[in-house]
Amino acid sequence: MAKSKSNKMIYFFSKSRTDGDGTMKALLGGKGANLGAMTKIGLPVPPGFTITTEVCTHYYENGRKYPDGLLTELAKAVAWMEKETGKKFGDPKNPLLVSVRSGARDSMPGMMDTILNLGLNDETTEGLKKATGNGRFAWDSYRRFLQMYGDVVMGVQKRHEHEHEPFDDVMDALKKEVKAKEDVDLSEEHLQELVKRFKKLIKDRTGKAFPTDPMKQLEGAIGAVFSSWMNERAILYRQKYRIPDEWGTAVNVQSMVFGNMGNDCATGVAFTRDPATGENVFYGEYLVNAQGEDVVAGVRTPLKISDMAHDPEIGPAFKELNAVRKTLEKNFGDVQDFEFTIEKKKLYMLQTRHGKRTALAYVKIAHDMVKEKLMTPEHAVKSGDPEALNQLLQPIFDTTDYEKARKAGRLLATGLPAGPGAASGVVCFSAHKAEEWARKGQHVILARIETSPEDLRGMIASDGILTARGGVSSHAALVARQMGKVCVAGAGDIEIDYHKGTLKAKGVTLKEGDPISINGTTGEVFSGNIATADSELKQVLVTKKMKPKDSKVFQYYDFIMKLADKYRNMGIRTNSDQPDQVENAIAFGAEGIGLCRTEHMFFEGDRIIAVRQMILAEKPEDRKKALAKLLPYQQKDFEGIFKALDGRPACIRLLDPPLHEFLPHSDNRKGQEEVAKQLKISVEHVEKLVKELHEFNPMLGFRGCRLGIVRPEISEMQARAIFQAAAAVMKAGIKVKPEVMVPLVGFKKELDLQVEIVHRVAREVMKETGKKFPYHVGTMIEIPRGCLTADEIAETAEFFSFGTNDLTQTALGMSRDDSNTFLPAYQELEIIKANPFASIDTTGVGQLMKMGVDKGRSKKSDLKIGICGEHGGDPSSVVFCHNIGLDYVSCSPFRVPIARLAAAQAALRNPRK
Ligand code: PEP
Ligand code: MG
Repeated sequence: MAKSKSNKMIYFFSKSRTDGDGTMKALLGGKGANLGAMTKIGLPVPPGFTITTEVCTHYYENGRKYPDGLLTELAKAVAWMEKETGKKFGDPKNPLLVSVRSGARDSMPGMMDTILNLGLNDETTEGLKKATGNGRFAWDSYRRFLQMYGDVVMGVQKRHEHEHEPFDDVMDALKKEVKAKEDVDLSEEHLQELVKRFKKLIKDRTGKAFPTDPMKQLEGAIGAVFSSWMNERAILYRQKYRIPDEWGTAVNVQSMVFGNMGNDCATGVAFTRDPATGENVFYGEYLVNAQGEDVVAGVRTPLKISDMAHDPEIGPAFKELNAVRKTLEKNFGDVQDFEFTIEKKKLYMLQTRHGKRTALAYVKIAHDMVKEKLMTPEHAVKSGDPEALNQLLQPIFDTTDYEKARKAGRLLATGLPAGPGAASGVVCFSAHKAEEWARKGQHVILARIETSPEDLRGMIASDGILTARGGVSSHAALVARQMGKVCVAGAGDIEIDYHKGTLKAKGVTLKEGDPISINGTTGEVFSGNIATADSELKQVLVTKKMKPKDSKVFQYYDFIMKLADKYRNMGIRTNSDQPDQVENAIAFGAEGIGLCRTEHMFFEGDRIIAVRQMILAEKPEDRKKALAKLLPYQQKDFEGIFKALDGRPACIRLLDPPLHEFLPHSDNRKGQEEVAKQLKISVEHVEKLVKELHEFNPMLGFRGCRLGIVRPEISEMQARAIFQAAAAVMKAGIKVKPEVMVPLVGFKKELDLQVEIVHRVAREVMKETGKKFPYHVGTMIEIPRGCLTADEIAETAEFFSFGTNDLTQTALGMSRDDSNTFLPAYQELEIIKANPFASIDTTGVGQLMKMGVDKGRSKKSDLKIGICGEHGGDPSSVVFCHNIGLDYVSCSPFRVPIARLAAAQAALRNPRK
């Protein structure tokens, strides 16, 4: 075991002794560390202890065995807790009861297991009854414990998706027998009967009796929490959020407080600000006479936290809670998501963590809290999820279509706005259906009575999530918020019947597969489709239909982006080939072009004819003639780009793809006949060349600089187009910074030959136009040999740009175009952690890049190096690029904000010397 210095496996927290604090999340998990922190600042936290994440790691590294001495330490910790609380484990008079909860370094809401009321058995339940004078409460706590323990530790669970939870079934049967409508209608005697039936269910299903010894119960519960680290949904969650398996979870054992002892008790979950919109309002919900799990599970729809102020019994505790809200923000420097319980009017804090929030809430909260001096600017930048910024570009309903739907009375219900944005698609009622339909390319809205962690896959696959039950902190709302999914939760007026496959509301019945639309910003649910429109941010930055001053969202976003720009070391460029793309990218903050793929311009208008003529020409003179036709087109394109860039650098790549991509393929005889007719040549000739140029995947033949080496007149024409454009634009008084980039270089000599052409043409154009324009010539590093010989290549290159798309396919020997046939299986089997074409394979491809940087800079210490593969817009790859010392990343226009934030976070986490 990677032991901490003290070999300590258990950390205490109580008024009299607290070992941990908020800085110890890696060792104590988020929950354990913050319980320590809250105790230290004097908040009312029931005493307890945390078993470290290192114990979990040991457990998995050693065939699920605990480290030596853990059980002895555990017994000591329990004895300490008994002293702290004045209660004893198993004491029939005044029993100590505990909760056992997981707690990973980063919170994984609802993914792992929790057990409450541990310590109860037939005797201690009677003891609890005596101590509290409340028999119903004691037996209700016992049945809850049996239910949780039976499910989590002993594995009594539903066996397929459409089966009910077995404990719920037993309980519902009893309720029917005794004509109880709600759980609270069950009397003490009924609950005693229920306990009997639950014990029988456990015995029938597992063949084992429920353990009565509290210490044995505790050992079982701790084992179950550790094991839940490896349950399917936790693994899936870690894959999605890239949480390493090695982190493990801590286990928190805490003395119980009860929110279900009567009407002067309550339990709740709250956020210090609204996590959906970011508004500075106390946001949350509670249930009177209930236990914490009832709120999160969404079984009863809870009350709004603001209603608590008017409750005659627990109103006074609300005042205290409001004060806690301020204390938490001040001490933790961020919005907190916390759980509390009120036991006989007294407030207890059970956990706190930084609240997960939508991207909209992120930018607003960061903006507001920095201005209020409650959050440091560094934290404002560090706490955002770069990928989530995409949400700010998510569509809203088209105003006209939306009004039409309202007027036509298609509004079915209104629930809680739990995940902003608008989504329209077909309704479906199960997670697997959602996955299946989404795979077929359908837009899906997953509608469930309430969601549970088992629905995770379906939630990932859907465009929107709708639930009939549950509040703003129900599982659906929590997960949707984090994933940035459109979500309406707790739309109580809809009735979902899984067996019939129907959703009913306002007399309308929708069948599975019928269209439905939801608005996660307002909570509205409509039947039928509603067209969607651009988000505010898009309207300000892209379509310019809105002015910056009219959009608050834009202002918050802009504040954060500017803050991020202060911290980042790397430049952010864009992969753009057209002036309008360049303009968008600049609006999003791009500082230049990192990759202009010139071939994309070959398809426009009728220039493809000249391109084909150039390819099919047999004699160099004919080829030159065709190229001469292309030259003015290319020059015009580059002029447009230089103008749009207005003095920012433009890295323009010479022709790269294999030539067959520009010809009709062999299965397109008609297309070939047309080309033959256009170019006045025989169709046999076209056919022959198509055959000659055909390449198999991965295309590694006649492409990249190899084209310019064998047919130098192509590079010559392109260089001429670039430089003539530069001279023309300069004449118009606009600055230009062309960078000519040679693709797929693996040998220094390849680059030498191409650079020679570029320099010669530059000299010629300068002479012809009388304009002296600045320019650089460099290369892409995108095949392993380029990395291995980067020192030689750097003698000629003025800059490098990593083409990680090709570098990944060549280093891994996996075609970038058809590796999807096996990559999902590779991910499932954890051969790879993430798709290497989306996120840099840092151990493999990353090593080649590092070598490329080191070797390149060994020859030219100030060699400018960037990246222009797709990875340039992937947050974790951006972090890697920062760490190996790249000067810039380049990505598609819409990912520029993501790269800006990711680059700033990388700089804050790992400052450059
Ligand atoms: C690359 O290979 O990473 C690259 C940017 O070039 P392309 O995708 O055009 O091959
Ligand atoms: Mg490439």
